[in-house]
Amino acid sequence: MAFNRRTFLRQGINFTTLLAASTLSASVLGATRLAKVSGNPFYLGVASGDPRPDSVVIWTRLARETLGNTLSRNEPVAVDYEIAESASFSTVYRKGSAAALPELGYSVHLDLQGLSPGKEYYYRWMIGGEVSSVGRTKTAPAIDATPESFRFGFASCQQYEHGYFTALDHMAKEKFDLIVHLGDYIYEESWGDENVRLHDAPEMYTLDDYRARYELYKSDTDLQAAHASAPWAVTWDDHEVDDNYANDIAIDEQTPEQLLTRRAGAYQAFYEFMPIRLPSGRQGASMQIYRPLQFGTLMDMTILDTRQYRSDQACRDGMKTSCDQHRDLSRTLLGEAQKDWLFRRLHNSEATWNVMAQQVMMGRLLRRDEIDEEMYLMDIWDGYPHERDELLARLKAAETTNPIVLTGDIHSNWVNNILSDFSDDSSEVIATEFVGTSISSGGDGSDVSSTTAQTLSDNPHIKFYNRQRGYVSCNLTKDLWQSDYKVLDKVTEPGHPIRTRASFVVEAGNPGAFEA
Ligand code: FE
Ligand code: CA
Repeated sequence: MAFNRRTFLRQGINFTTLLAASTLSASVLGATRLAKVSGNPFYLGVASGDPRPDSVVIWTRLARETLGNTLSRNEPVAVDYEIAESASFSTVYRKGSAAALPELGYSVHLDLQGLSPGKEYYYRWMIGGEVSSVGRTKTAPAIDATPESFRFGFASCQQYEHGYFTALDHMAKEKFDLIVHLGDYIYEESWGDENVRLHDAPEMYTLDDYRARYELYKSDTDLQAAHASAPWAVTWDDHEVDDNYANDIAIDEQTPEQLLTRRAGAYQAFYEFMPIRLPSGRQGASMQIYRPLQFGTLMDMTILDTRQYRSDQACRDGMKTSCDQHRDLSRTLLGEAQKDWLFRRLHNSEATWNVMAQQVMMGRLLRRDEIDEEMYLMDIWDGYPHERDELLARLKAAETTNPIVLTGDIHSNWVNNILSDFSDDSSEVIATEFVGTSISSGGDGSDVSSTTAQTLSDNPHIKFYNRQRGYVSCNLTKDLWQSDYKVLDKVTEPGHPIRTRASFVVEAGNPGAFEA
């Protein structure tokens, strides 16, 4: 069949797509095609992510031990895929091949292009007579479309030893338009003495260590179910590398050189196991994962990275009273390049809801020590007050419509009104923050803790606080945002039911949360 430029345009495929497709087929042509594999190569299931109106990334990873002699030759391996509009695959919409690269641990990232906007697709992988489980995915709405509604869930912090990933199985059942994961997808270390299952090894340092840890986590069938249920948008927090690291600075005696070497392995492993759209999975110790996702006119989402570029935590980290370093105006959480990009995006966006998907709590969390001095957590935005002020001033100056902040990291649920001046309770509400609890980190947790009443009275901009496990389900229309806080009574036993503990809404044009 002869293709010319017009044929491609008529089919809605542009030349960038064509170029990508030809690069891909060239790499697939060089890949070894296996007639047979030994066992199930799709041991970690399937995943998809970073949806755009016309494309989505689909992912899988092949079990090395099923590949036979190919392994010793270190060659790319061809994997076939099929796309359908129903889970039964009664009609195959498209099929083709992609390459699993040995240098990326035989993971496959295929940026499927030329898809229709706002549409559900099903995909599966095939190699040597073996077929993967089926994944459901969904493209983003067209750039200029205003969908009636959009439903997504967000989650974070899944320490494997602390509990079962039951909440992720509940997320899978929701068949979301999108699942956002805000980091601490794996943990590099163990703590706690009530662990329900164990890591396979102690702390990780090398690429192979991190790969083994992702393999362990992704062997969890609840996690696989959540990946197969919807496209994901992922970012990382600290534990994908090392607890509370800041750029090249560790909290212990590792040198910057040691931490950067470690970071390169950790970042590559993150890429290998995540359905993420990046130009390359091997970028060394620097890997830009901050990126935008747009969902029609309804929502613009910036996926942020508050670990890789930040200044070291002030005052030796932890919950501390202020010190000179804390007040230093040159300190940054986002880094200059990401901040410029974010500010431009927030300035230019015409979306109804402008969502910053990030890691650490933005709302002030004031606590007082025994002599009544103010204390702040130096790892969260409280530790970078100047940059928070700068961001809030920008949101106000740019008249960014309906800014929403999504947060993980802190293993508890919070709803915060983000004030222009946290020292003045009556100051203007600039944005609304929804902080989601952990999937499992910290074990079962509890509804409230002994410090709750004092914390809430010291911080009246905090509208809700809860320490159970679960996730947050968000439903948005052009008039209303609703966040449902879904919790489980126990994660130390499998199979507990999920329930909605509280619901909060934000009206478009009126920042700040109200209990529904
Ligand atoms: Fe965490
Ligand atoms: Ca964290």
